[in-house]
Amino acid sequence: MTAEFLDGKAIAEDLRKEIKQEVDERIKSGKRVPGLATVLVGENPASQVYVRMKHKACQEVGINSYAIEMPKTSTQEEVEKKVKELNADPNVHGILVQLPLPSGLDEEKVLNVISIEKDVDGFHPLNIGRLAQKGRDPLFVPCTPAGSIYLLKKVVPKIEGKNAVVLGRSNIVGMPVALLLVRENATVTICHSRTKDLPGVVRQADILIAAVGRPEMVKGDWIKPGAVVIDVGVNRVEDPSAKRGYRLVGDVDFEEAKEVAGVITPVPGGVGPMTIAMLLQNTLRAAELAD
Ligand code: NDP
Repeated sequence: MTAEFLDGKAIAEDLRKEIKQEVDERIKSGKRVPGLATVLVGENPASQVYVRMKHKACQEVGINSYAIEMPKTSTQEEVEKKVKELNADPNVHGILVQLPLPSGLDEEKVLNVISIEKDVDGFHPLNIGRLAQKGRDPLFVPCTPAGSIYLLKKVVPKIEGKNAVVLGRSNIVGMPVALLLVRENATVTICHSRTKDLPGVVRQADILIAAVGRPEMVKGDWIKPGAVVIDVGVNRVEDPSAKRGYRLVGDVDFEEAKEVAGVITPVPGGVGPMTIAMLLQNTLRAAELAD
């Protein structure tokens, strides 16, 4: 059996088109152009690339973007002051502080300062807290977890009652994705580095979401035949035959898993493109909240 591929690139592209249309309609009706501000402290090259990608994506759908760059010597007070200025700026609907911050800065304190109405990354403790509570709704859900569930729903419209296994419990992926699955009424098992008999637990999964950051850790014989596999992992492995000397692989051994799974996301081209599409969607939503 060969699994169906869940094409995150194409699905994200469709979503971006929808977002562009909604932004155009807003502008035509005289409403404010949605605006996203990114705050980049220091010169981490990976962060610079991510921030550039986000600005380019904003531009493509007609969202204004404001790039705030601060030196890595910035103090906690200076970064918090900048976030407060953005909180007060009516042209800025979403604020994204690019993580990680340089050492010496307290990330949690900075995230706490972002107004929850502008927390388009969904990492404010209040938004995460609401995600974890029954009967409460966060204003924004973190982008990678939201994108993973968006993809999943394309192939499993009714998640209710399914056995879902999440590999990883990080604040940015594993835990919020598990909370989202609980909200969809799945029966959720969260695995981490202390889990015993990982293959045995994973074999119970109708839905597997892998976010561990370990290249090709999940083998084909861990997977229940017909399961839906969402691979969030993005790992570099050396590959002398590749132009850059490396290639990207997921947390799941794709070649093995595709022979057993019912549906699988590729890496790259699966969850990755969804993350930015979700950021655009959250920014549009923030603008609507501010109307
Ligand atoms: P973290 O390193 O923060 O968390 C990894 C989690 O996996 C931890 O909970 C850890 O357990 C668990 N883990 C690590 N090793 C094992 C193991 N051998 N067995 C079982 N569990 C293990 O990673 P992130 O959540 O930030 O990222 C996970 C992956 O997702 C990475 O590859 C990252 O690049 C990718 N990613 C992709 C994004 C996208 O847009 N596509 C966005 C963000 C991340 P414990 O808690 O016990 O330490």
